[in-house]
Amino acid sequence: WSSSDSVISTDSAGEHSAEPGRPYRVVLLGASGVGKTAFASIFAGAADSMDSDDCELYEVTEKEIEVDGEPASITLIDTWDSERYMQTGDAYLLLYSITDRASYLRASELRITLRRFRPAQNTPIILVGNKCDLVRRREVSVSEGRACAAVFDCKFIETSAAMQHNVWEAFRGIVRQLRLRRDSKEA
Ligand code: GDP
Repeated sequence: WSSSDSVISTDSAGEHSAEPGRPYRVVLLGASGVGKTAFASIFAGAADSMDSDDCELYEVTEKEIEVDGEPASITLIDTWDSERYMQTGDAYLLLYSITDRASYLRASELRITLRRFRPAQNTPIILVGNKCDLVRRREVSVSEGRACAAVFDCKFIETSAAMQHNVWEAFRGIVRQLRLRRDSKEA
């Protein structure tokens, strides 16, 4: 938990001004039960996990990770009120559960809502099909996930928070996209 007010504030246009060196704000979005809290606790490290208070609308963890030999500071926002926090992110992990088709449809809705808040085409977004360990309960195929990501112009990855499979790959992927965007702005 950290000083939330400064973390989630936006300026009047809903865009963040370029503050060099400030952490990237990465927002976890997705239907209830898809694994956002599990992602946040892996990110925070086991020691901090599940230190949540259900009355709060969001949980914030700040951490530095190394990606391709370069450190990156990330503020991860796990929110129960996605629309309210949509405009606060630099990048988004849009989660669904491969065992829950409704959550896959919800991810599409969230992507559309996100487009309203973040009309810029190069907003880093990764569509994350979580719970890929539950093979026998799969309701959404890999190709459906990929196709959805292609339609919505975002990257795609399947993960298992339970097996800690590809979760860090998703965080690293979002940092790489943020850097690409940063570098293209600087160019
Ligand atoms: P949230 O509502 O999106 O924050 O979802 P949670 O992180 O609370 O996860 C909901 C339930 O799914 C919990 O019981 C988790 O232990 C479980 N869960 C989360 N990720 C995975 C996963 O990758 N595989 C499996 N098998 N269970 C998971």
